[in-house]
Amino acid sequence: MSTAPRLAAAKRDWGGDETGCTVLHIDMDAFYASCEVARHPEFKGLPLIVGTGPRSVVSAASYEARPYGINSAMPVARARHLCPNGIFLPVDMSYYRAVSRSIFSQVFARVTDQVEQVSVDECYMDVSAALRRWGRPTNIARWIRQRVAALFHVTCSVGVASNKLIAKMASTNAKPDGMLLIPRARQAEFIQLMPLRAIPGIGQALEKRLKDWGIEDVAALSRSSEAELVQATGSRISAHTLALASQGMDKRVVTPYTPEKSIGAERTFLEDTASLKAVSDLLRQCSDEVASSLRKRGLLARTITVKLRFDDLKYMTKSHTSRVPLHAASAIHPEAMRLLQTMLNMTEEQVASGELPRLIRLAGVSASSLSKAEETPVQPSLDEVLQEEEGETESLRRAQLATAERALDSIRGRYGQGAVKFGL
Ligand SMILES: [Mg+2]
Repeated sequence: MSTAPRLAAAKRDWGGDETGCTVLHIDMDAFYASCEVARHPEFKGLPLIVGTGPRSVVSAASYEARPYGINSAMPVARARHLCPNGIFLPVDMSYYRAVSRSIFSQVFARVTDQVEQVSVDECYMDVSAALRRWGRPTNIARWIRQRVAALFHVTCSVGVASNKLIAKMASTNAKPDGMLLIPRARQAEFIQLMPLRAIPGIGQALEKRLKDWGIEDVAALSRSSEAELVQATGSRISAHTLALASQGMDKRVVTPYTPEKSIGAERTFLEDTASLKAVSDLLRQCSDEVASSLRKRGLLARTITVKLRFDDLKYMTKSHTSRVPLHAASAIHPEAMRLLQTMLNMTEEQVASGELPRLIRLAGVSASSLSKAEETPVQPSLDEVLQEEEGETESLRRAQLATAERALDSIRGRYGQGAVKFGL
């Protein structure tokens, strides 16, 4: 759920000249909440909040929940306090992903293959090659909005403009359930209505620097010379990008992309913890789940990512991609522990003391760079070749662990996922 600034003054008719407006930005409205309403029509029109658990944060809220002051990333406990009669549902990522995949394949892909997926509910589309068939970009935008609503009971907002920057800003200001066309000749005027934070890349820190220089909004930004902006930002590149943006210009092109699939597991601690053992145990449990789903789907992963959320709700992730693909918890868990220690800059003394430098609220592991096991030649790493020469103990131990984990899979297949856990 977007927290980007929206302006009442921006949501108006900017004229109908679509010349060169070949970039669409499509953003589903309150996507997780809309997906829930799609399968629970009885919740339509009610304040619905996705995210449960006393220590979780809100992942999405329906538009009906927003007047209560509910925002994404707000602790669920606070949301319950603000909206005691709201409907609170747990996050069901695999269902939202499935809906998203269907929307991309059954609607967006019908228009063009020039689709750059940004997230599960957002993409850019370059429709220049589709205009022969469709006539105008807004015809495409209207069709997409109508199809997504009819087939999936999810509404989306579409921005139509000459570049990604303006298209995204247009869809933000079209929300909810709207379309906004910004003709090329009006794009400077449109963006100059905005506060600084509306420009992607201007965060709290840069906003403050600009304001310290007397640059209060995008209009003021557009009146500053690039030389002034170099001084204000301390960076030639930022200055140039900001100068262009303040005129509504953006050189980035739509690059077809579909995010790589990943398989992950994460858990929130009942109480924030600084215990290395507690985090290690939790990461082991998550590694075990990830490994088990990889094997179930016949996949191998080369990238392992560890995610942490701290007591102040901030996130941190760190990934490592290895040459050798993995699918066993006995390999994923040690990798996750290495990532954890690097991420927190832990000294050997800290590791030995068993005390983490920060309080952890949530930890998780995910595996990506996935490939089908039967199509992936498993090449031994140089380390392993050396170990082989030293003796077969290590490879034998690994083979035994892999066999043990496959045995766990079959027990779980019979008695359920919680039936047995892997103790390393
Ligand atoms: Mg969205």
